[in-house]
Amino acid sequence: MDNYLTTNNSFVIKEFSSDLTSTWKECLRVIKDNVTQMTYNTWFLPIKPLEISDSTLKVQLPSQFFWEWIDEHFNTLISKTIHEVMGPNAKLAYIISEEKETFDKLSLIKKDPTSPNSVLISSKPKQDFETFLNPRYKFENFIKGDGNQLARAAAGAISDNPGGTSFNPFFVYGGVGLGKTHLIQAIGNKIIDNFPDKKVIYLSSDTFTVEFVEAVQSNKVNEFSNFYRNMDVLIIDDIQFLLGKEKTQDLFFQIFNILHQSRKQIILSSDKPPKDLKGLDDRLISRFQWGLTADIQPPDLETRIAILNKKSEEYGMVISRDILEYIASNITSNIRELEGCLIKLLANVSLNSKEINLELTKKTVKEIATDRKINITIETITKTVCNYLKVDENKIRDKTRKKEVVLARQVAMYLSKELTKCSLKTIGLNFGGRDHSTVIHACATIEGMKLTDSTVKYLVDNLRTQIELSCS
Ligand code: ADP
Ligand code: MG
Repeated sequence: MDNYLTTNNSFVIKEFSSDLTSTWKECLRVIKDNVTQMTYNTWFLPIKPLEISDSTLKVQLPSQFFWEWIDEHFNTLISKTIHEVMGPNAKLAYIISEEKETFDKLSLIKKDPTSPNSVLISSKPKQDFETFLNPRYKFENFIKGDGNQLARAAAGAISDNPGGTSFNPFFVYGGVGLGKTHLIQAIGNKIIDNFPDKKVIYLSSDTFTVEFVEAVQSNKVNEFSNFYRNMDVLIIDDIQFLLGKEKTQDLFFQIFNILHQSRKQIILSSDKPPKDLKGLDDRLISRFQWGLTADIQPPDLETRIAILNKKSEEYGMVISRDILEYIASNITSNIRELEGCLIKLLANVSLNSKEINLELTKKTVKEIATDRKINITIETITKTVCNYLKVDENKIRDKTRKKEVVLARQVAMYLSKELTKCSLKTIGLNFGGRDHSTVIHACATIEGMKLTDSTVKYLVDNLRTQIELSCS
């Protein structure tokens, strides 16, 4: 009897799986006819068929990035293929590799309105509100380095005990593209994993302001405020955008106090430390310093290589060490640009059937540097520097010799030389018709100060990434 059952069972399973396998094989055959060999190998071979039910074919993809890429570039091809092979009502459902264990516990099916024939299945616990957390930001893919050690360690502790550590609020600051958003969202994602009942919400202070204004207009300020007071974990990104917005700050102050009193976790990020947030209510600045303030510094070479390694793995790319080293040595100030470089390479490989070699890499790195220079103007640099140092833009062009104006002027000249293709003469002219020798002097002064004064180095590096990012 036992024997019979086993045989029978395995027979059923075999029949079912061969149906799945042959259907998927047929799909692959159609796809192969429509794309290059390279694209086929990169994007379609790694897809694993999982099951067919109710004319839906479920497949597994290696990463979230993979899904986004496929959805963006091959959506039409996939829809057509599925219809051709399985009939007009057939659908494709994707699941991301890391979520596979929770496949059976799926509680939320997210429909993507732009792609009616495919759905991304997410394993997030059901919440009655949108958390706005991006599942791609995790601790597992956040590389530790000297520049982010304290921030990373505190973030881990908070995830295990939200509201229960002395790191409340947790205030992370640092230059653009250095991982603040990634890190604070990783905390949110981890807390939801650890404590599925906790209410976690992520938003930027800009969104908070817009929602607040809408609430005022529609007479719903109480509802708005109650919603945030009910959170267990409130994560607000780029808090510097609250500067000068007094009414929003007032309400945020009240919400902050209530959450803090009831030992709810508050997590904030900013481009500068609390004390430099001029234009923010002093009461808020002092509260921001109650918990832990941690900065994120630009990554060193080893960390940049490790990040590239991790990202290329995520994208399913195999890249040799010397190529990773070349990229990491030439793109130094911004992690988002490191990532941008990999994506450009990936696009070349899969869309133009090129191979990733040192030559292509050099070309790509150069393109990134040129894009940056083309987009950056002396005007943007001046604006950003003056805004950051709170110096009047007109003063920078006149004869003022005040210390803070001179510093702003010299930093702006230095960055104009570094980040644009303008000649020294043009730079001088843009700063109140000064001579090119003044520009040379300014550049030498800043170079010198960067070596001896770490606050100047931090200031210049930070401004540099901010300008590069705002122009990319
Ligand atoms: P910020 O908010 O500071 O401007 P982001 O968090 O948006 O920067 O980071 C920019 C990009 O760099 C993101 O794609 C992020 O995943 C990546 N990144 C930043 N820091 C790290 C790190 N330590 N390890 C891996 N990826 C990182
Ligand atoms: Mg950010």
